[in-house]
Amino acid sequence: MAKKEFKAESKRLLEMMINSIYTQREIFLRELISNASDAIDKIYYKALADEGLVFNKEDYYIKVTADKATRTLTISDTGIGMTQEELENNLGIIANSGSFAFKKDNEAKDGHNIIGQFGVGFYSAFMVADDVTVISKALGSDQAFKWESQGADGYTIEPCEKDAVGTEITLKIKENTEDDNYDEFLEEYRLKSIIKKYSDFIRFPIKMDITGR
Ligand code: ADP
Ligand code: MG
Repeated sequence: MAKKEFKAESKRLLEMMINSIYTQREIFLRELISNASDAIDKIYYKALADEGLVFNKEDYYIKVTADKATRTLTISDTGIGMTQEELENNLGIIANSGSFAFKKDNEAKDGHNIIGQFGVGFYSAFMVADDVTVISKALGSDQAFKWESQGADGYTIEPCEKDAVGTEITLKIKENTEDDNYDEFLEEYRLKSIIKKYSDFIRFPIKMDITGR
């Protein structure tokens, strides 16, 4: 008898993941920083193989910016970026990991530090945000794209402006409720301690800028 493939109710799956995979919501920052680090590592590995591409260490960093006035937290990187197709495939298909694929394709090169593999970490952002915007410009591309989602309902993608190659992820931090306070994710000392706790091993500089206090 022919085997049938399982189908998945993607909305429910996403909700389940957002609400039950992680016990602590603060880890969303670890996930986004590890993705940023992976994106920079990918440029690094490309530069190893491509003499035309020079990796200047000082050009590569991760930046965490919080703005209390607009209630936004932005994680940006100067990594490899994503094309429109990569935004679709990596952020539009649950459990699809571009980083896992990259590791498989580059197995020959030893010593890589790429962290991603399961293709779900990104969605942890929805534990603390009710809107996530990803603006990205891929290495070798002239056009940037903006991916935006409010969670289970799906996402939109459209062309946009971005000067430098890399990715900028903006989280609209949830409003406080009677039971939950999200303000901590806009506080410098709190963000610093989360970064220290989970992202201390990251090999690229993590800069921070807090405004709107
Ligand atoms: P994983 O990191 O396990 O692959 P994620 O859900 O965290 O899964 O991310 C999914 C994919 O989206 C990554 O594998 C990567 O291809 C892509 N991605 C996410 N964040 C970035 C980023 N900042 N820059 C470039 N690509 C990214
Ligand atoms: Mg990841």
